[in-house]
Amino acid sequence: MESVKLNNGVEMPLVGLGTFKVRGYEVVCRTLDAALGHGYRSFDTAAVYQNERDVGRALKELLPKHGLSRQDVVITSKLGPKSHGEEAEAEAGCLQSLEALDCEYVDLYLIHWPGKQGWRSGDERNPAWRQRSWEAMESLYRNGTFRAIGVSNYTAGHMRELLAKCHVRPAVLQVEYHPHLVQSELLAFCLANGIHLQAYSSLGTGRLLAEPTVKGLADSYGKTPAQVLLRWALQQGIGVIPKSTDPEHIAENAQLFDFRLAEEDVEALNGLHSDTRYCWDPRHVA
Ligand code: NDP
Repeated sequence: MESVKLNNGVEMPLVGLGTFKVRGYEVVCRTLDAALGHGYRSFDTAAVYQNERDVGRALKELLPKHGLSRQDVVITSKLGPKSHGEEAEAEAGCLQSLEALDCEYVDLYLIHWPGKQGWRSGDERNPAWRQRSWEAMESLYRNGTFRAIGVSNYTAGHMRELLAKCHVRPAVLQVEYHPHLVQSELLAFCLANGIHLQAYSSLGTGRLLAEPTVKGLADSYGKTPAQVLLRWALQQGIGVIPKSTDPEHIAENAQLFDFRLAEEDVEALNGLHSDTRYCWDPRHVA
């Protein structure tokens, strides 16, 4: 599995397993077992997925079976939007993740969403509150609780504001990114500022798999549509975290390093951009 060195030196596999909607201990355990067997060493969870406890427990049980220890895997989790608030509130949210995962440290911890849960997107208190959350995460980064910190669902505007105020630069920005949502401005911003861009919903939550251009390219390379979509991201230096509970899909989604898309095929996929979001739209968060 190839990896990227984050701006603080931490190594992050370019392919990880997404776990949104992977719920219940049996399912989580079976899924992570298949993923570890197929070479995954990075797992993406979040407080709002309500599966941190199961992910942590499953890894504890499975790592020895695969001849691995805690430091061989990268665990990403995220601060839920309800935890933006006074510094103590954000810190409590961070520590709850740690407790649920039953880990001494988390490799990468992200602010999940730039706004506070329950507030209108345009609420002018949002910038100050997410800044307090960032400061709480900076403290936990400094004392080694988090090996790296970053953000998710931030726009270029949110990023500029964060970079102007932060003491620890974000290592990762995780956003929706696929051929229907080619966020070129954000990608260029991240590249210019040494921030690793990680894509979520690379398969368009599954809806891009039947896209005719994607299918055509899959046929011509002898690969699957999922592999074409994931490879397209990797070739631009973007990390991916496809979600699957199907062992065949899990295997397929990790076999991405034995082919390369021609430049004109990358461009053909870029040309599918339609500004379509299959998840959330953070552009209106003040
Ligand atoms: P994806 O784009 O990864 O698509 C997942 C869907 O595609 C599932 O229905 C899965 O079904 C199917 N699938 C996966 N692989 C294949 C394959 N090889 N062939 C056919 N179908 C396939 O969607 P997600 O939205 O789940 O995004 C991935 C991860 O990103 C999440 O799990 C989560 O960890 C993270 N995320 C982060 C967000 C954020 O706000 N920061 C928001 C959304 C996601 P099956 O299980 O049957 O294979």
